[in-house]
Amino acid sequence: MSVAESTHTIEDVVARGMCVGCGACSVATSGRVVVRFTSIGMRQADLEGVSPADIARGDQVCPFSDNAPDEDQLDAPTDWGRRLSHDHRIGRYSLVAAGRRVDESALLESSSGGLTSWIVGRLLKEGLVDGILHVGDGGPDGLFSYNVSHSLAEADGRRKSKYYAVTLAELVQEIQGNGKRYAIVGIPCFIKAARLLALQNPALAEQFAYYVGLVCGHLKTRFFAESLAWQIGVPPEQLASVDFRVKNPERPASRYDMAVSSADDPTTVLQHEVAKLLGGSWGHAVFQPEGCNFCDDIFAETADVVFGDAWLPQYSKDWRGNNVLVSRNEQIDELLRAGQREGEIQLDEIDVAAAVASQAGNYRHRRDGLAVRLHDDIRAGLSVPRKRVSPGLAHVTRRRVKLIRQRRRISALSFGAFRAALASGRIETYLERLRPELSKHDRLSKKPFAGMRRRLQNLVRRLRRGQGAR
Ligand SMILES: Cc1cc2nc3c(=O)[nH]c(=O)nc-3n(C[C@H](O)[C@H](O)[C@H](O)COP(=O)(O)OP(=O)(O)OC[C@H]3O[C@@H](n4cnc5c(N)ncnc54)[C@H](O)[C@@H]3O)c2cc1C
Ligand code: SF4
Ligand code: SF4
Repeated sequence: MSVAESTHTIEDVVARGMCVGCGACSVATSGRVVVRFTSIGMRQADLEGVSPADIARGDQVCPFSDNAPDEDQLDAPTDWGRRLSHDHRIGRYSLVAAGRRVDESALLESSSGGLTSWIVGRLLKEGLVDGILHVGDGGPDGLFSYNVSHSLAEADGRRKSKYYAVTLAELVQEIQGNGKRYAIVGIPCFIKAARLLALQNPALAEQFAYYVGLVCGHLKTRFFAESLAWQIGVPPEQLASVDFRVKNPERPASRYDMAVSSADDPTTVLQHEVAKLLGGSWGHAVFQPEGCNFCDDIFAETADVVFGDAWLPQYSKDWRGNNVLVSRNEQIDELLRAGQREGEIQLDEIDVAAAVASQAGNYRHRRDGLAVRLHDDIRAGLSVPRKRVSPGLAHVTRRRVKLIRQRRRISALSFGAFRAALASGRIETYLERLRPELSKHDRLSKKPFAGMRRRLQNLVRRLRRGQGAR
């Protein structure tokens, strides 16, 4: 059997460092698979000493195992959703829109258009759920962890994106079987993991009443928060709080700030434009775990509804922020339409192509790039998960192949470079190691001959001006 045909199991997921720490295997084995902190700054499953029966249980719920159904097989959560039109890039859809909430203060206290916190608030207000499982401050994962919110005030206190590795392991075991119904908010692989758990466990299937996805570029381990905060002036051992998404009226929505505070002076908040910090550009993929190199789901295809940033020129120029959303659930559609009628939210229907365009970089990384990485790893004899993308190089230029490989190299190098910085107590150790790698990436990402073309255009312009003057 060739590598491409062999089955990629949970053991391969863990051995290859592809675990995203979702914790589904831990829930499926009542905690016998432990999700522990590893050297890359996140919690990952430890299969050491786990019985074959428990490994088999975990295997069925692991989002990267070939023994679990894939996104197409899982499909939308409801029968209604599974009858909708399907697009291979975004999954099923009944409503594709860009929009935001109208209340200015709520909008400014959210990451994008605030529609994620608005919809979970609506689900609570209407009594459709008893609580929200989402990420807020503190807890077992460090600065942020999964929490349950039972009231609107609690849920609103946990707005904004947490670009931080967290797990569902403990929280889902805590709520399992308590008879309450929840909306679970998560990035696509976590939603897939929750759906897989629901397939195995009828009690959880009842309890996960709504799956609310977040569009995802890739995961960041805690080193991301720590490395950016350190550059702003707060070293990791002092880091008390992080706000990854501070809107800045001076700039378009895409050029947001980050705010951090230190334990020795929690009232002083330091703020900085994220994209100007080393590793702040998502295109560089620092601290991205290996699993994200093998993920093809951008719009949380197994969720009832998914929200992201509307990275389209007409929306991103407004610093206040806007969402892109894809709904696949009749009740969610009704709640959104009601919110629009009542003037609480604004929605513009957009077409599928526009939704895809809002995540153009993600598609390049997770579809075109994935094909290259599958090709590379299969050729190297490594185990890879079965994906909905075929391995190959022919679809991209040789320069793009180099760029895709350089990006992967940066992710892998970033962890060791940051550990070296932690050991030396100097952020420069990390910055100096990464700088040449990012420069190489940036050179490759520029259009070939762009500089030469610009110089030629300038020369022609100068010559024409010279002729005009004669
Ligand atoms: C790791 C990660 C990568 C992302 N990558 C992209 C991307 O490439 N492109 C893009 O368009 N959007 C991406 N997003 C989504 C984006 O950052 C916003 O979260 C999304 O647009 C919703 O914004 P909002 O204003 O509607 O959310 P808000 O109204 O601010 O509400 C956010 C809600 O999400 C919950 N939440 C925050 N972080 C997490 C988390 N890690 N896991 C589970 N729940 C969480 C909060 O508790 C809150 O309920 C990413 C999000 C994450 C967490
Ligand atoms: S990805 Fe999730 S289910 Fe798979 S091994 Fe890691 S924690 Fe377990
Ligand atoms: S890129 Fe995929 S695997 Fe990585 S965090 Fe996002 S959804 Fe999960």
